[in-house]
Amino acid sequence: MAQQLIKKIVIVGGGTAGWMAASALAKFLEESATSIHLVESSSIGTVGVGEATIPTIVGFNQFLGLDEPDLMRRTQASFKLGIRFDDWAGPGSRFLHPFANYGVPLHDIPFQSIWARARAGGDRTPMEAYCLPSMMARDSRFALPPPDNNNPLGEFGYAYQFDATLYAQYLSEYAMKRGVQRTDARVREVHTRGSDGYIESISLDSGERIEGDLFVDCSGFRGLMIGESQQASFEDWSHWLPANRALAVQTESVAPPVPYTRSTTREAGWQWHIPLQHRVGNGYVYCSNYQDDEQARETLLRNVEGKLLTEPNTLSFQTGMREVFWKNNCVALGLAAGFMEPLESTSIALIQSGIRLLQTFFPRHGYRQCDIDEANRQGREIYQSMRDFLILHYKLNRRTGDPFWDDCRDMEIPETLAHKLAVYQSRAYLVEYGDEPFKEGSWLSMYAGFGIDPESYDGRADRISETELGRSLEQMKTIISNAAKLAPVHSDFLGNYCQAPLVGAT
Ligand SMILES: Cc1cc2nc3c(=O)[nH]c(=O)nc-3n(C[C@H](O)[C@H](O)[C@H](O)COP(=O)(O)OP(=O)(O)OC[C@H]3O[C@@H](n4cnc5c(N)ncnc54)[C@H](O)[C@@H]3O)c2cc1C
Repeated sequence: MAQQLIKKIVIVGGGTAGWMAASALAKFLEESATSIHLVESSSIGTVGVGEATIPTIVGFNQFLGLDEPDLMRRTQASFKLGIRFDDWAGPGSRFLHPFANYGVPLHDIPFQSIWARARAGGDRTPMEAYCLPSMMARDSRFALPPPDNNNPLGEFGYAYQFDATLYAQYLSEYAMKRGVQRTDARVREVHTRGSDGYIESISLDSGERIEGDLFVDCSGFRGLMIGESQQASFEDWSHWLPANRALAVQTESVAPPVPYTRSTTREAGWQWHIPLQHRVGNGYVYCSNYQDDEQARETLLRNVEGKLLTEPNTLSFQTGMREVFWKNNCVALGLAAGFMEPLESTSIALIQSGIRLLQTFFPRHGYRQCDIDEANRQGREIYQSMRDFLILHYKLNRRTGDPFWDDCRDMEIPETLAHKLAVYQSRAYLVEYGDEPFKEGSWLSMYAGFGIDPESYDGRADRISETELGRSLEQMKTIISNAAKLAPVHSDFLGNYCQAPLVGAT
């Protein structure tokens, strides 16, 4: 085997991205002689939000070999079955984006066409009746997916709602136990090689200089290495995703935690509600062109329950991504690579996909431009697919009378998304471009949630007899409804699973 050329990895940043990268690389390289050095600055601190996740995180923790109940106890985590969207489809509306599919196909005909056929015949059963996590979430129930399940109606994913700072701490212990060295200092300068721009070393305010072969930029929005040193430009997506501010505040719990994140529309954006074991994370994501910071603060404080535990913290951001997340020997992860706003809790999942690409194309025998290009191509596809999914929420909104929401409905959308939407509207067909992070069930939850009734459906659905159609749909509904009723109340399940007392649990 050729010699391992990456002897030292330097990570700048100790937020969620930095410690996820350090842990995963320590695990990935545990048999090698590569050393990992992480530099973070406690005087700069981290962004300190990012509490809701999507199911990919479960696989990440399993790769590291973490003990789930222990992790959940120490990060004050609750389970998450999806996101509930309140008022997005008009005043008083509610629908869940579950981490699951709906129903099962009949004779190979996709479920949404079966459902559309029944609907055309007058059946008004909502799509959520065919989805187990939707039905569990409705009654605040939770059970883990059965490990040896052979019924597709019982398949679903889950994620966590946790304290992201505690998660980073948990991972820092994990990484340091596996040899990652940590330095608390501010990076003052990044030194590059004149010939090709590769980073050679960083110097710290302590005077120390750290050399490396691979530099991982987890320095947050600023992108200290990928932006300032490597000059990877930033692609602005604010014409599609216009929110540019967030106010975050923590409150005391007034009820046991529910197994979903809540997103509710407000005048110039939307408010999040993320219930953890011991408190609730709240925030208002808005666009400052439509509402000033003081009005936004009033909007948020008017709409939170429970005593404030922190002062509202303002964060400014721009949605978009770096043209490339990997340039020369610098790989950007987390906010340094891009940010799309937290509507679907995608940032931690994007850190994870960046780590996966770094592992797949790890420069074991030196850097090759074709590998870097492929990693960047795949990274871009993931970002663009998530971007389109988020834009869909805004485009389909039915909150009328507020300039922000009216403008979102009127905006031009990317061609990739316009095509998907048009084909669904035409014939209930779900277009997928390759291996997209949000699968069919996610897209379907949006179309059904926003009340998009397709003009037609897969013609084969008409060949199913009325009797078979009615019986099959009834069976699916019954199986799901019975399974949901058997699931324990979320807070009881959580209390038992983590062996932790919960506020307000029965
Ligand atoms: C309002 C909001 C809500 C969010 N909600 C979610 C969510 O629900 N789910 C989700 O998945 N994601 C969410 N995110 C994103 C999530 O917070 C981030 O993706 C995640 O925290 C990773 O951040 P980071 O580690 O890239 O950057 P940061 O947390 O900003 O960390 C940057 C690190 O770099 C260090 N650093 C910077 N400059 C220097 C220097 N010169 N020298 C040394 N060290 C330096 C800092 O000390 C810090 O350790 C949200 C983001 C925002 C803004």
